[in-house]
Amino acid sequence: MIQSKRTNEPVWRDVYTYSSLPPSLSKLDEIAHNLWWVWNSDARELFLGLNEEVWETTNGNPVSVLRSLSQRKLRELESDEAFKAKISCVYDKFKTYMQEPYRTDAPSVAYFSMEYGLTNILKIYSGGLGVLAGDFMKEASDSNVDMVGVGFLYRYGYFDQVISNDGQQMAEYRAQVFNELPITQVKDAHGNPMKISVPYPGRVVYANVWQVAIGRVNLYLLDTDVSENSEWDRSITHQLYGGDWENRMKQEYLLGIGGILMLEELGIKKDVYHCNEGHAAFINVQRLVNLIEKEGLNFNEALEVVRASSLYTVHTPVPAGHDYFDEELFGKYMRDFPPKLGITWQEFVDMGRENPGSYEKFSMSVFALNTCQAANGVSYLHGAVSQKMFAPVWKGFFPEELHVGYVTNGVHLPTWMASIWKPFVHKHISDDIIHLQEKQEVWDKIQDIPDVEIWNMRKLMKRRFIDYVKSTYSLHPVNSKGEPSNTLSVIDKINPDALLIGFGRRFATYKRAHLLFTDLERLSKIVNNEALPVQFIFTGKAHPADGGGQGLIKHIVEISRRPEFDGKILFLENYDIRLAQRLIAGVDVWMNTPTRPLEASGTSGEKALMNGVLNLSVLDGWWYEGYKEGAGWALTDKRTYTNQYYQDQLDAETIYDLLEEEVIPLYYERASGAEYSSGWIQTIKNSMNFILPHFTMRRMMNDYIRRFYIPLSERSARLGADDRALVKEIVKWKEMVASNWHTLEVIETSVVKKGDSFNFIIGDHVKVTLLLDKHQVDCDLDVEVVVVEEEEDKSLKLQSVIPLQLVSQEGSRVMYELERIIDVPGHQKISIRVTPRYHALPHKMDFAYVTWIPLSLV
Ligand SMILES: *Cc1c(COP(=O)(O)O)cnc(C)c1O
Repeated sequence: MIQSKRTNEPVWRDVYTYSSLPPSLSKLDEIAHNLWWVWNSDARELFLGLNEEVWETTNGNPVSVLRSLSQRKLRELESDEAFKAKISCVYDKFKTYMQEPYRTDAPSVAYFSMEYGLTNILKIYSGGLGVLAGDFMKEASDSNVDMVGVGFLYRYGYFDQVISNDGQQMAEYRAQVFNELPITQVKDAHGNPMKISVPYPGRVVYANVWQVAIGRVNLYLLDTDVSENSEWDRSITHQLYGGDWENRMKQEYLLGIGGILMLEELGIKKDVYHCNEGHAAFINVQRLVNLIEKEGLNFNEALEVVRASSLYTVHTPVPAGHDYFDEELFGKYMRDFPPKLGITWQEFVDMGRENPGSYEKFSMSVFALNTCQAANGVSYLHGAVSQKMFAPVWKGFFPEELHVGYVTNGVHLPTWMASIWKPFVHKHISDDIIHLQEKQEVWDKIQDIPDVEIWNMRKLMKRRFIDYVKSTYSLHPVNSKGEPSNTLSVIDKINPDALLIGFGRRFATYKRAHLLFTDLERLSKIVNNEALPVQFIFTGKAHPADGGGQGLIKHIVEISRRPEFDGKILFLENYDIRLAQRLIAGVDVWMNTPTRPLEASGTSGEKALMNGVLNLSVLDGWWYEGYKEGAGWALTDKRTYTNQYYQDQLDAETIYDLLEEEVIPLYYERASGAEYSSGWIQTIKNSMNFILPHFTMRRMMNDYIRRFYIPLSERSARLGADDRALVKEIVKWKEMVASNWHTLEVIETSVVKKGDSFNFIIGDHVKVTLLLDKHQVDCDLDVEVVVVEEEEDKSLKLQSVIPLQLVSQEGSRVMYELERIIDVPGHQKISIRVTPRYHALPHKMDFAYVTWIPLSLV
C-alpha cells in the first residue's frame, strides 16, 4: 500500500514585523521608551489617540501602539499638523523635564531589588514591595536624585490570576515579549548586545542587560534567558518568587554578584548601595572581592569600606519570612568566595548567623546586617518590631538601643492620583502640587472647596470605576456563579449610589481578608439594608505556594455567591497595578485588616487617600502614624489578645460596629435638601489636609536622604580620604581591642549604701564604683549601670542606662564612679556594662564588644 500521509513536525520561528517610524514621528518612539509617560497623562493620551484598540488590548503599551501603525496611518499622521503639534508639546515638556541636572545635596545611590512595580505592562513585580521600589525610582527621577536601579527582566514574571468556577485560584504564566516592551537592550562598544559573564561554581552564566529609562534615572535588568546558558540557568530569571530554594539561591546570587559585575561593566559607581530587602545582600560579597582584588585592601579594611556605604531596608516583620539557606546549598554556590576574601569558610558562613559557630542556616538578613552600617524598617512601629527581631544579632544590647531606624513608606503621587482627580486638585489647591506635595499648608486650601464639588467628583470617579468593572469583568466566570446565563446579572446589580468599600492586596493570611466574614448574619444585615446600601469589592492574588491564602480567596468567592450577598460582595480577579489605580480611586472606603504588628507599612491606603478615599484600618504600619480623628477610622490597638482567634473575633466586632455606627450613618447623613453628606466631605478634606502630605514618596525620599544616604556618604568620604587613612586606623584599633579584650580585669566593684542588702528605700544615697585594670585594652571605655525590669514572659525590659564617670587613672588601672539618689520604686535588676569607646565608630553595634560585670555590696 502507498502511504497516503507523510509529514514532520513544523518548527515555528517567531517573526515580528514593525513599521519603522518616519523621522517626523520619531519623537513618539523616544517618549514611548521612557517610562515618564506612566505618570504623565498627556503623554499617555497621545498613544491612546493613535490606536485606542491596541492601547486597550495591551493594557496601555505605547510600544505596541507604535508597532501597530500601518503605513497608511503613518502617512496620514505625517500630514496631520494638529497631531504633530500635540506631539511636539508633549515632547517639549519631556525634554524640559529631562534637562534638569541631578541635585548636588544628595549622594548618588545604587538600589537593588528583586522586583519593581513601575507599570502594569512590565511584569517584574508581584505586590507592595515591588510597587514601592517602582515608586521610589520614579521619585528619584522627580527629585533629581542620581540613582540607578538593579533588578531582573523576568521572562514570565509573576503570574496572572484566573479564578475558576469554584473559587480556585489558577496561576497563568505568560511569556513577555521583550521587544514589545518600553525598554532598550544595552549594547557593548561594538554594537552587539552586552553580555555579563557571572562566574557560578563550575560554569559561567551569561546575562543580557536591559535598560528601563524612568524619567531621569535608569533601571538595569539582568536576563539569563539567553542561548549560551543551559536550560537550567536560562530559567534563573524566568519567574519572580517561583521555583525551589536552589533557584532562589541562584537568583540572589545573580542579583548580588551579577548586579555588581553589571554596574562595573556599565562603568557605574555610586556613593551609597541600598539593599531593598535581604534578597540583594550578596552585592556586598562582590564589593568586598573587588576591593580586595583590585584595590589591594585586606578583608577587614574592605569590610569597613563596604559597611560604611551600605544600607539595608527590611520589609518583613517575622523571622520566618526571611531567606535562609542551609549550609550545603549555600556552600554549593559560595564555596569559592572565602579564599578570595582571605577568610575561612567558618568565618564566612558565620556572617549570616545570629550565633556564630552554631548550625543555624545562613540568613540573608543577618548577612545584610553584618555588612551594612545602617538598617531600617518601613514604619515607626515596624522599626521597633525590627529592633526586637534583630536584637539577637547584637547580644549585650537591648532592642531600643539598636541603630536600626525607620522610614515610613510613601507613594508616588503623580502615579496614584487618578487622572481625572489631578486637574481638580490642580485647579483648587495648586497647579504645582507635584512640587508642593509635602507642604501641609498648601493642602489647607482643600478646606475651601465647596462640598458639592468634591461630592460630584467623587461620584464621577466611582461611576467611572463601576463602568470599568462592568466592561472588563462582566464576562468572567467568577462573577457568573458558574452559569453563563448569570454572567451579566451580578455585575449589573452594582449600585453606583451605594457606599462602596474596597479591599485589595496580596492574600497573605496575616492580612485577614476573611475578617469581614466572621459573622455572616450581621454582615448580611449590613449589606441588605435597603435604605443604607453597602457593597464590597475584594481582589488580590495569593502566592501559588500559599494554600492558606488561596483558601481565603475560595472562601470569599463562595460567600459572594450566596443569594443574600448577590451583587453586594464581589471578587475581581487578577489584582495588578492597572486595577489598583482604578479601584483605589473608585471606592468610597479602603479597608485594611492586618494582624498587628505584621503589616510592616502597607501603602495602598496611602494611594486611596490621595484620591479622596477614606481609610478604615487596623492601627498598624503607616496607619498607626497616619490616623487622625475625624479623618478616617481605626480599629483600636488598646485591647489585644495573644490568642489570635479571640483577637479576630474582637476586631471583626469592631469593624461591624464602626460600619453600623459611624461609617454608614456618616455616608448617608443628609442635611435637609442636600444630596450629599457634608460630614463625609469634611472627613475627606481632613484626611487630605492632615494625613496625605506626610505619606508621599517625596517625603520618603527626603527621609532616606537625610537619615541614611547623607550620613553614609559623609562617613564614606571621611573613610576614603588620605588614601583611606581612617580605614586603616579603625582596623588597627579593632584588631587591638579584639585581641586584648579578654585581658580586661575587674579589680573591684562596690555599691556603697545604708544597710547590707540590695533593698533600697526611696531617697537612699547610693554610690557605685568600679575598679578595672585595662591591661592591653588601650582605649577609652564606656561604663554604665543598666537597669531592667522583668516582664511577665521573663524577658527583660530596659528601664535606664546610667553612665559612670571616670574618676581616676593610674597606669592601666581605671576607677569609675556613680552617685545616685534612689527615686524609682519597684522590682528592678541592675548590672554594669563595659564597652570600648572610639570616636570613628558610627554606632555601638558596629563593634559590639560587651562585658557585663555583676555588682556586689560593700
Ligand atoms: C500598592 C499595591 C500593593 C500593596 O498594597 P498593600 O495594601 O500595601 O499591601 C499590592 N499590589 C498592588 C498592585 C499595588 O498597587
